[in-house]
Amino acid sequence: MPKTDEDLLIDDAISQRKSHKRGYNLFATLSLAAIFAAAGWFLLFWLRPLIKSVWFLPLGTVTTGLLVAGVAAFAIAGLLVVGALFVANPFARWGDGVPGTCPLCGKRSLRQEKVEHAGWEDGHPEAGIKKGPRGLVTLCETPGCQYAAATVTTPSSS
Ligand SMILES: [Zn+2]
Repeated sequence: MPKTDEDLLIDDAISQRKSHKRGYNLFATLSLAAIFAAAGWFLLFWLRPLIKSVWFLPLGTVTTGLLVAGVAAFAIAGLLVVGALFVANPFARWGDGVPGTCPLCGKRSLRQEKVEHAGWEDGHPEAGIKKGPRGLVTLCETPGCQYAAATVTTPSSS
């Protein structure tokens, strides 16, 4: 039995929410922050003193540029860490809160997000990536609650 557009959107929404929970974004962001911090350290505490120590070269503007670049790299690293902490914040979860209660568990834990499905059509990879359906998916955040609903706004072109 082929999946309906609603099923596809709900599947996508659930896997999106899982990747949020796994903290994949957090890890990637912190790695990037570490790279910028390392670059900043390199520029400020290694490359700049090295060039400065070469006293006979008139490199004042270069060392100033390195200072600015190093400080900027540290600033970017700091912003990334702040951003990562914000992403890790339990309030920055998948989707937006929806007023009302869940019809299954009765709790106020519904969240909604726009989802666009893009995928290969089953059994027809030669057709290329199928322009999938788009719609709004509502999921319940209560652990163990299976409530999921989708409203298709743009049906898949078949
Ligand atoms: Zn529920």
